[in-house]
Amino acid sequence: MKPTLILINPWVYDFAAYDLWAKPLGLLYLASQLRAMDFKVHLIDCLDIYNPLMEKITYIKKPIRRRYGTGKFWKQSVPKPSQLSSIPRSYSRYGITPQIFIEELKKVKNPVATLITSLMTYWYPGVFEAIHLVKDIHPDSPVILGGIYATLCPEHARDYSNADLIISSPNQFWPVELSQFLKNTIPDFLIQEMVEPFSTYPAFDLLTKIDYVCLLSSSGCPFRCPYCATPFLSPYFFKREPLKLFEEVLFWHKEYKITDFAFYDDALLVDAENHICVFLEEVLRNNLHLRFHCPNGLHITYIDRNIANLLYKTGFQMIRLGLETSDIRLQRDLGKKFSEGEFERAVTHLKRAGFTSNQIGTYVLIGLPGQTYDQVAETIKYVGKVRAVPYLSEYSPIPFTKMWKEAVEVSRFDIESEPLFHNNTIFPCWDGDVLKKVSDLKKMAQEIRKEA
Ligand code: SF4
Repeated sequence: MKPTLILINPWVYDFAAYDLWAKPLGLLYLASQLRAMDFKVHLIDCLDIYNPLMEKITYIKKPIRRRYGTGKFWKQSVPKPSQLSSIPRSYSRYGITPQIFIEELKKVKNPVATLITSLMTYWYPGVFEAIHLVKDIHPDSPVILGGIYATLCPEHARDYSNADLIISSPNQFWPVELSQFLKNTIPDFLIQEMVEPFSTYPAFDLLTKIDYVCLLSSSGCPFRCPYCATPFLSPYFFKREPLKLFEEVLFWHKEYKITDFAFYDDALLVDAENHICVFLEEVLRNNLHLRFHCPNGLHITYIDRNIANLLYKTGFQMIRLGLETSDIRLQRDLGKKFSEGEFERAVTHLKRAGFTSNQIGTYVLIGLPGQTYDQVAETIKYVGKVRAVPYLSEYSPIPFTKMWKEAVEVSRFDIESEPLFHNNTIFPCWDGDVLKKVSDLKKMAQEIRKEA
């Protein structure tokens, strides 16, 4: 009999959460690798909006879903953790109910181990709750915790999570610690030491329903922005063979009729000519009618006429550009990823290719240590003037980033010992007048979006 593993995507506990092509891609890759080694994998996705047991519940409002597989999650109000009691906003658990989670756990008999992933550091309450319930239902099955929170806050996870093993090494497609753990637990079973990145397709087929598939055409990012955890989490930048990526897209399209694909890349357009352009030209040549999405944002400097045309013709719906700020000095401090005039030029290329203003979303950073109200307001106005639409991207302080030390110094919270204070909703690194005027900035951005 095949040994069984439970894989869990835990709940989100937050003031707000929205499903913008949010899938546990790392966990789904792991699931497919484990299946390839002949494990039986039982996935419990706490954020599953199609869980059939949830459909029967009448006391929770059904989540509104929007275009292309995005929308709201199931949501239940829960008491705020005491650390966040001063924040005048309600707090919720997003996802299936704990009762349904328990029912899902009970479906599995004698699991060898349970693997739980983690995302944002401040979402750890969902991780802890899942661990607690797993230990209740399967007390003899060890719990292994990995993912972003476990990597960025390893000590906190070790001290408080109650997991039996914390995998806190930066991004590996196949963590060595997991290999060793499984070998020790089931010595008679053949466990691979190494797994080639992208050697399997992520196990989207384990989800109740596939609205879209998330793609990675590369891992990591060649830039080193001081606020971003990617350089730590995925230290090596490497690209995947573009025609192999095309084969994967074709597989999902033909076998599962998928037409929506969301890129999870951090640097999709780097070396575009030899990489993403090759893939997109293949999509065109095969006359596939697909829709692509890029929630992580694209680098402005790489948008030229050819790329803009390819993005438009191959079905990119909403372009997201990473502007960050229009303030020249701050731009330089953030790694200066584009030069003067390049944003206007990129927007012009995109418009000439066929995109409308409201399809050119532009990320504006807000809440950085030392950033002023005027710097954000000017950037929002600048985006409007160039006839694109601003989306505010709230800064969250992250351990192991270059900006972390400064964030610790200026924050009004003890972000070093409590990850709940990393939550971008509370603007941990802003205070006083600038904090009071956040809603003005949000309104300003909203007005421009409405006009567009
Ligand atoms: S913010 Fe973007 S460009 Fe900068 S390091 Fe992170 S992923 Fe790379």
